[in-house]
Amino acid sequence: MAQKRDYYEVLGVSRQANEDELKKAYRKLAIQHHPDKNPGDKSAEEKFKELSEAYEVLSTPQKRQMYDQFGHAANAGSAGGGGFGGGGFEGNINDIFGDIFGDIFGGGGGRRGGGGQRSRSRGRPGADLKTTVDISFEEAAFGTEKVITVPRSHNCETCKGSGAKAGSQPETCRQCNGSGEMMFQQGFFTIARPCTACSGEGVKIKNPCTDCNGTGRIKKRSQISVKIPAGVDTGQRLKLSNEGEAGERGGPSGDLYVVINVLEHDFFKREDADVICDVPITFVQAALGAEIEVPTLEGRVSLKIPAGTQSHKTFRLKNKGLAHLGSYGRGDQLVKVIVEIPSKLSGEQKELLKKFSDIGGESSHPMHHGFFQKVREFFGN
Ligand SMILES: [Zn+2]
Ligand SMILES: [Zn+2]
Repeated sequence: MAQKRDYYEVLGVSRQANEDELKKAYRKLAIQHHPDKNPGDKSAEEKFKELSEAYEVLSTPQKRQMYDQFGHAANAGSAGGGGFGGGGFEGNINDIFGDIFGDIFGGGGGRRGGGGQRSRSRGRPGADLKTTVDISFEEAAFGTEKVITVPRSHNCETCKGSGAKAGSQPETCRQCNGSGEMMFQQGFFTIARPCTACSGEGVKIKNPCTDCNGTGRIKKRSQISVKIPAGVDTGQRLKLSNEGEAGERGGPSGDLYVVINVLEHDFFKREDADVICDVPITFVQAALGAEIEVPTLEGRVSLKIPAGTQSHKTFRLKNKGLAHLGSYGRGDQLVKVIVEIPSKLSGEQKELLKKFSDIGGESSHPMHHGFFQKVREFFGN
């Protein structure tokens, strides 16, 4: 680019022009010099780039202020040495374009290259699929293998996915020359629409395969065996490559994502790789100490409760938790004892408890004793 022109001059506005005036000026000139309206005209293309650059700077308050102060030097860095050439240009321009002309395209945004060079028709990849699998707590702990049923499309075996009857070939669509797109002129713009003759496929099938009606694909319920690793948790997903929908006309298959849902357990919960289990004990067991049985993932184990254990104390059973997913070792099991106060007492039991209290039960409860000692100090009596 030769000597850079002043941005205000490029847009033909005064230095005091407001946002609206800028937009109007840019819009008018951009339509005039749009490359789609001037195919092959290099100078129009240059003008259009110049316009867009000027508008991009002047419509951004911060950039405009910098430009007013420092001129082109202000943007030398961001625009890259040669100004607006090359790859950076396209992205920028489409943003501005979508913004200003969005209404013309119903908000859909920018223009398409004029040539119809995209070939999106053949070999379209298959869609990814997602399915959820329920597993039990134990299955999550030790890993499992599940057979899941997934409705998905397969390549038709009769036509090998081509959609054409045996012995025939799909033909390139003549209307769109295989691009799947038709270019339309709307105002000054060229707009791409799916080809009507081939529904955007780019090919036409004269003799469709009767098994798949020419689609090349057949829906089937597939049984897929999934290995679920030990230690998985709800919400985690396994990716099974190429187990999604078959691609169209020989395109690659999509992937299958299996989302794990671990069902609730009657008495186990988990925190990462640790198993959490609440175990009720009687107040007598807590006071006198006891040996109790607690459940673990691998059966019952015995746990010693020392005399004077308080409610909600947690005991740790090493390596009785779940596998650490993706690494070595296991978590622990945390057993929280909950001291249960009897809710129904016989006459004799009441009698004994009263007696227990009378012979100085209170002083043997250090927490209770300490608390009321502090309360007395607080009130001074
Ligand atoms: Zn076509
Ligand atoms: Zn077929």
